[in-house]
Amino acid sequence: MANRRLALCGRGFTPRLVSARSRSHPSRTNVPATPVNFYDLTRAELLALAVRWGFTPVHAARLWAYAYREGVESWAEMPELPARFRAKAESELCLVRLPVASEQQSSDGFTHKYLLSLPDDRRIETVLMRYTGRVTACISSQAGCAMGCVFCATGQMGFVRHLTPGEIVAQALHVDAALRGSETGAALAQPHSLSPHSRHERLRNIVLMGMGEPLHNYDAVMTAIDILCDPAGLAVGARKITLSTVGVVPGIIRLADEARPVHLAVSLHGATQEERAVLVPVAKKWPLDELMAACRYYIARQERRIFYEWTLIEGKNDSAETAHAVGRLLRGQQAQVNLIPLNPTAGYAGEPTGRESARHFQQILAEYGLPCTVRQRRGIDIAAGCGQLATTDNKPVG
Ligand code: SAH
Ligand code: SF4
Repeated sequence: MANRRLALCGRGFTPRLVSARSRSHPSRTNVPATPVNFYDLTRAELLALAVRWGFTPVHAARLWAYAYREGVESWAEMPELPARFRAKAESELCLVRLPVASEQQSSDGFTHKYLLSLPDDRRIETVLMRYTGRVTACISSQAGCAMGCVFCATGQMGFVRHLTPGEIVAQALHVDAALRGSETGAALAQPHSLSPHSRHERLRNIVLMGMGEPLHNYDAVMTAIDILCDPAGLAVGARKITLSTVGVVPGIIRLADEARPVHLAVSLHGATQEERAVLVPVAKKWPLDELMAACRYYIARQERRIFYEWTLIEGKNDSAETAHAVGRLLRGQQAQVNLIPLNPTAGYAGEPTGRESARHFQQILAEYGLPCTVRQRRGIDIAAGCGQLATTDNKPVG
């Protein structure tokens, strides 16, 4: 029965709340009901659903706490729910967690990569990183990516499909469970003698820098962020979430107008329209001048800085002249630049910029008043670094 429900939920990656709405619609009563994935729902939606079923919000709040505070993954482990409410929830909702298809740990023990199975047998990757003195989950927003950046393994595999809010949330829950020790616990708690971390850490930092372009899947990503930040649930601080975009201009403007205080990172990689478009094909759709205008609007509207990401590719975009061009482009903006030496991918032959040249690039940006960091290269041995996430067993849709 549980399997059947899961399979039905697998088809539930069509719009969320579909079945809840169709059940309440008189002309749709003969449509077979598809259980809703619990993890697609915000707390407000769950409370409303419970009230519609004739129960009190208190019961829904207890269910929410079981799922997000205690990490409970099955109805059987929720003894405090009244039997009638639990039976109703069980018949209307399903708890779609993403099973681990495989798992890898980097040789230094600080990076874990999980290949997770979606209900329709597609796969995505999620990374747990334990460096710079904290634990961070790098989560995916899509299976594959439609943006086609030439140096990115996810771009090279093409677009498979958007993830639902619940599939994005489930990745964070998986990492949280791993940290608590309920899944691969002991190994993770002490991955290496150098680990500064102890058991039962909670997930506090999330970067939406895994597979996919988050602003291409805007609504699902924002719903997921609302669920992840819910103070009665995982309670990840919005300021501990960084969303990285290739530069989807309408999404940046929308984000600027909405009150979600997440950090925004924008992948730049080229300081002129021509240079950028070679590496980032979607620059043809959203040109550099429009992107810069959207970023300035975001900074002014949110009163918050933007993190610009720059993948350093030897001989392509790492010269002193290029650094000066970046400086001129971003001068005066509330901005920080993160330099990412190119990570290897199967479909791109470039080499990463060496340490000295990266430092020189960094120094030039400092002359323009732009704080700049060079990202640590970790997890490269298990292809868990920036732009290395990809799966081979996904067939593109349609
Ligand atoms: N789609 C989003 C987020 C995922 S990619 C985006 O593009 O911003 C996360 C970061 O990794 C981006 O800055 C991206 O440009 C960078 N990246 C992609 N491929 C890379 C590679 N091979 N080496 C280093 N950085 C890479
Ligand atoms: Fe997509 Fe980001 Fe990779 Fe570009 S860098 S292909 S936007 S995941």
